[in-house]
Amino acid sequence: MGADIESGRALPLVFEAPRKGKPPKHWADLEPADRKEAVVAAGLPGYRAAQLSKHWFERLSHDPDEWTDLPADLRAAVAEQFFPLLLNTVSEKTTDNGDTIKTLWKLHDGALVESVLMQYPGRTTMCVSSQAGCGMACPFCATGQGGLQRNMSTAEIVAQVADGMRRMRADGAGRVGNVVFMGMGEPLANYKAVVGAVRSMITPNPDGLGMSARGITVSTVGLVPAMHKLAEEQLPVTLALSLHAPDDELRDELVPINNRWKVDEAVDAAWEYARKTRRRVSIEYILIKDMNDQAFRADLLADVLLRRGDWGWVHVNLIPLNPTPGSKWDASRPEVQREFVRRLEARGVPVTVRDTRGQEIDGACGQLAATGTQG
Ligand code: SAH
Repeated sequence: MGADIESGRALPLVFEAPRKGKPPKHWADLEPADRKEAVVAAGLPGYRAAQLSKHWFERLSHDPDEWTDLPADLRAAVAEQFFPLLLNTVSEKTTDNGDTIKTLWKLHDGALVESVLMQYPGRTTMCVSSQAGCGMACPFCATGQGGLQRNMSTAEIVAQVADGMRRMRADGAGRVGNVVFMGMGEPLANYKAVVGAVRSMITPNPDGLGMSARGITVSTVGLVPAMHKLAEEQLPVTLALSLHAPDDELRDELVPINNRWKVDEAVDAAWEYARKTRRRVSIEYILIKDMNDQAFRADLLADVLLRRGDWGWVHVNLIPLNPTPGSKWDASRPEVQREFVRRLEARGVPVTVRDTRGQEIDGACGQLAATGTQG
């Protein structure tokens, strides 16, 4: 019966035609509950929805020719209708003995974004972009220098993760257990698409990618209202706050959004997130030579955090500054970094120092510029 209605037909358009600037709508943009309706509207039997989800999310097969439970003459029409190609590979760079791979993607409208796949012993992390460019203008960050081009769609974000997962599976190299929103963009400035993407990642197979929310980290400059909203979503993702300075005077310069929401408001929102979700918050702190790495700032940082309680709500992640082109700033000296760590530890603040994976391919934190001309 199915084959009868299906075979050889051009499908009626279910998704509106893509508009300028807007990425084409994709299967992964639909709520699982709406997918059946969409295939029925296209004149297909409802059971096709489960088959398609199984291919895309569970088997990570994005080549319609492999969808052999679909009549051959239907595959192209289904792919065109529901699975437009969102990410076109422009280039790929590898470092750390092949364990770090940075991919430059061109989106449908020519916008460029990057993602980075990082394999560690026993764990693999995918660093994804949520916007083409970024409007937050942090002076030490390469992405921040070019401004915001546009928000990415839910499916454009999910597709980056699906690609990393497919690649790992093809290599028999284990699975992607962690996703960090630390690529290009400010995830909480693209709230709806980001939360949609997170839901899609944690929805079990076949309707989603089947990841654990605990493996997902959303990193923000401190968009306070959105942090409060995220705490209400019942998504046990980890929140990272890019603090970088414990005092407003310096943070106003390093993280310009601080002129809108101050250190105290941002840290309060982070604390509130930890209290509500019972997830330990991560405070990101780049160490920049002679800017924010003084011993008194380590003490002040401990004060700012411990003032809100010492019940293990927070963890400090120090990031050695990655050099970006044209920047006047350097990473802190090793002994200065050690002293910063020591002072936090002495106060009982849990602290780790981030590795600088991907530095040689401009794939480390804050180095993503996606100019497409860097080789
Ligand atoms: N907009 C979000 C997420 C993207 S950046 C945010 O700011 O949190 C991810 C992390 O990389 C942030 O903590 C950011 O401050 C840091 N980062 C940016 N530029 C960097 C650089 N040049 N060296 C080291 N870390 C950097």
